Amino acid sequence: MAKIREIRCIRTRAPGNWLIVKVITDQPGLYGIGSASDNYNTDTVKAAIEHSLGPLLVGRDAGHIEDNWQSAYTSGYWRNGSIFNTALGGIDMALWDIKGKEAGLPVYQLLGGPCRSAVPCYAHAGGRDLTELEDDVRRYLEEGYPVVRCQLGPYGGGGFLAPEQTSRPRHAPPQERCFDDEAYLENIPKMFAHLRSQLGFGPKFTHDVHEHLRPHNAVQLAKLLEPYRLFFVEDILPPEQVAWFRLIRQQCTTPQAMGELFVNPHEWTPLITERLIDYVRVRVSKGAGITQCRKIATLCEWFGVHTAWQEGGDNDPVNQMAAVHLDLASWSFGIQEENHFRPEELEAFPGHAVLDGGHLYANDRPGLGIDVDEEKAALLLDPVRAYQPRWMAEDRRADGTVVRP
Ligand code: MG
Repeated sequence: MAKIREIRCIRTRAPGNWLIVKVITDQPGLYGIGSASDNYNTDTVKAAIEHSLGPLLVGRDAGHIEDNWQSAYTSGYWRNGSIFNTALGGIDMALWDIKGKEAGLPVYQLLGGPCRSAVPCYAHAGGRDLTELEDDVRRYLEEGYPVVRCQLGPYGGGGFLAPEQTSRPRHAPPQERCFDDEAYLENIPKMFAHLRSQLGFGPKFTHDVHEHLRPHNAVQLAKLLEPYRLFFVEDILPPEQVAWFRLIRQQCTTPQAMGELFVNPHEWTPLITERLIDYVRVRVSKGAGITQCRKIATLCEWFGVHTAWQEGGDNDPVNQMAAVHLDLASWSFGIQEENHFRPEELEAFPGHAVLDGGHLYANDRPGLGIDVDEEKAALLLDPVRAYQPRWMAEDRRADGTVVRP
């Protein structure tokens, strides 16, 4: 059985900060790759792999995936944090890749075989106003997307007021825009009223709140959106306030998707077992890899909840491929978030999933079916911008209070 000989990291695409893990075995040519990307703490994750998990696992059997996962999970004593989970997630994906290559089977076959022919995705439609948004939604529907996410502008869009439209403290520092819950409650239901009046109730729509609202306003928004019969509303609450899902459930039937910020089983377990959400949205790498996420999918199955693994602009093709394998093999799959890559980005990842007509297609190669071309990957890295500090964009209310994303 193959032993782990080396675990190393490949930094690529920056800005955008992708981190690919390569687990190399003692068998000639046998290695696996995984995704450990973290847009804001790339080198912290890299250090966790190079200085902690890598040295722990070198010399062990690559095929003992569950045992390696359990051992690595508690190796730092404290656990369930974002950095360590991502490091573990990247290594775990690579071990599944190796296992598939050894078996001569794609990972989705190892997970039980495909439950569906391809992976339906939801698109990201957006616009600065209702006309732009409607055009974008129509474009995605024509492309064949089964579900379309509808947003007005950036994170929190629909809730921004110009500073002069608000009441601000005299000495408040300058701000480009102010987030306002009541503006959001006014504009987002109107957005769906417009889309339903123009496109009817045939298209399936979602909306992402990006956790911006105060919890009592989140309850109100869920209720206000009920007449528009959404596929789901996403991240209506921040992870600190998930207890409010009980109140949302008591008030309305708007389906709830939650969890792209989750890293800890204690965050998603009660929401699934109490049936307080309808779709769980952990990022596969942040959920500590295929090993833990397939358990989440199984837990979902017993409680009638579905998966909608998180993707989005800062994710890489390897994480997407790991999600696709889970999507294909999980009965509790609901929908997959889309991601778009530039042609030169896809060229650096031969075997990547193929997005066509709103569906993602895997291939039948052994393992994850995706590889990294290190020379091409190196060309995606801007050596200056890759090592500059990077932070999540910050929104504030009129009085200057930070809004949690
Ligand atoms: Mg989201």
